[in-house]
Amino acid sequence: MNHKTVKKVVILGGGTAGWMSAAMIKKLIGNAVEIELVESESIGTVGVGEATIPPIKLFNSVLGINEAEFLRETKATIKLAIKFENWKEKGESYYHTFGAAGRSLAFCQFHHLLKSANQLEDDSHLWQYDLNYLLAESGKFAHINSKDPLYEVPYAYHFDAGLYAKFLRKFSEKIGVKRTEGMVKHVKQCQTSGFIESLILQDGQEISGDLFIDCSGFKGLLIQEKLSTGYEDWSHWLQCDRAIAVPSKRFDNTLPYTRSIAHSAGWQWRIPLQHRNGNGLVYSSNHCTDQEAQDLLMSNLDSEAIGDLNSFRFTTGRRRKQWNKNVVSIGLSSGFLEPLESTSIHLIQSAIVRLVHTFPHAGINESLINEFNKQSKIETEQIRDFLILHYHVNQRSDSLFWNDMRTMNIPDSLAHKIEIFKENGRLFRDNNDLFQDSSWLQVMVGQGIYPQDYHPIANNIAPEKLKDMLKQIKTIKKEPIASLPSHDEFLATKMRT
Ligand SMILES: Cc1cc2nc3c(=O)[nH]c(=O)nc-3n(C[C@H](O)[C@H](O)[C@H](O)COP(=O)(O)OP(=O)(O)OC[C@H]3O[C@@H](n4cnc5c(N)ncnc54)[C@H](O)[C@@H]3O)c2cc1C
Repeated sequence: MNHKTVKKVVILGGGTAGWMSAAMIKKLIGNAVEIELVESESIGTVGVGEATIPPIKLFNSVLGINEAEFLRETKATIKLAIKFENWKEKGESYYHTFGAAGRSLAFCQFHHLLKSANQLEDDSHLWQYDLNYLLAESGKFAHINSKDPLYEVPYAYHFDAGLYAKFLRKFSEKIGVKRTEGMVKHVKQCQTSGFIESLILQDGQEISGDLFIDCSGFKGLLIQEKLSTGYEDWSHWLQCDRAIAVPSKRFDNTLPYTRSIAHSAGWQWRIPLQHRNGNGLVYSSNHCTDQEAQDLLMSNLDSEAIGDLNSFRFTTGRRRKQWNKNVVSIGLSSGFLEPLESTSIHLIQSAIVRLVHTFPHAGINESLINEFNKQSKIETEQIRDFLILHYHVNQRSDSLFWNDMRTMNIPDSLAHKIEIFKENGRLFRDNNDLFQDSSWLQVMVGQGIYPQDYHPIANNIAPEKLKDMLKQIKTIKKEPIASLPSHDEFLATKMRT
């Protein structure tokens, strides 16, 4: 397709996507390529995106970032879970933690054992066996020094998005990424191949490259405005299309989890940072006016607002090809899935890793492009299904929105997943789905799907032995909690190191 060696990568955009791409690509293959990032301070970044999921730790560790420094510089806090409030029904809540309940035996997932025990008058629930849940509820956190998988506590961070981009900019410039300030006014394209040749800035500078990474935000300046790649619209399934956000004063006790509070036409996030809370409302404009949304958010802040309200409009979906010609779109330019499970920053991370794996150092060809696009399609569709699950399986009868969510048609892939769990209690992970069985399990059960059956393998354990085993796991899981510091004490210690 184009056998020109890729020697120079140009990244357009200096938001989270741009700087994450610059840092990781330079770190991993900076010996083979030159990297230049172009951004415009006068345009700015989207300024939101504060909650993450555990793989971010791997990202930071590959970059060699020190955790204490990262927590300090980005005003980050620990995230163990998301607490979903009023989602199944008003007044009820459940956690989707990053942990897993109990201990699975060979070929037998823990929830089958629990269901078998529940038939024996044991009324314990999933979360009582989940250390992430126990820590989240007690507001505690520290690294537990043990190799026992029962003491594993997967976690992620909440951070200030603007500070994270600044942090990564400093990191990237230090390892040799060139940053150019300026607004792109014109994009030069090869008349025959349609490949992008260069970006022309407002001041006349011309930035040429062999491969372009479009991190220009929702508009997708290269992937869409220039290459007209097209968009697959999923808003008939994920109907929220607007959001508003406002910061508020911090609390004395910093929660180690995100709160997601369902309202009549959407949901509200509360993200605790060291210096403030991030708040926002994601809503459907078909079910709620902008003024109603604003009133709803402002009247449900738990502390005083300390900044301006920002609003966002979006269409949920994905770019038809995340990589088209010599443009790879990463971040908002590649599509958008609302922040319900904090997956956007992760999608940036996985696109960067995928690009590194498929990097066309000897020239861009269709086989690499197709593989990249195939993987990104599967990944995004799986996350899409997981998000739809939260909305679709609800028992709320208080608004048209929740009724519409419950009665809408859903993708066949999701319908199958729900049915096989409901009827048989079985969960199967598809194609490296980002969300593992423990995640699907928590959200399905949390939203009110209680399986009718469990696998007979669970009956291989004699009832008394099973009861003892569960009791023992519960005790072991609780053991470390008493000696752990509070989340705030943990952060204070990190600030001092
Ligand atoms: C309401 C909301 C809440 C969210 N919450 C979360 C969350 O909790 N967790 C999560 O993982 N994700 C979240 N996201 C997504 C997350 O914010 C984004 O994925 C992330 O910030 C990446 O944005 P970006 O870098 O792609 O785009 P942007 O931040 O918009 O950056 C675009 C960059 O392109 C530059 N640019 C654009 N045009 C030009 C031009 N002509 N010339 C030069 N430069 C240009 C801009 O200057 C800017 O630097 C949320 C998104 C929204 C809308």
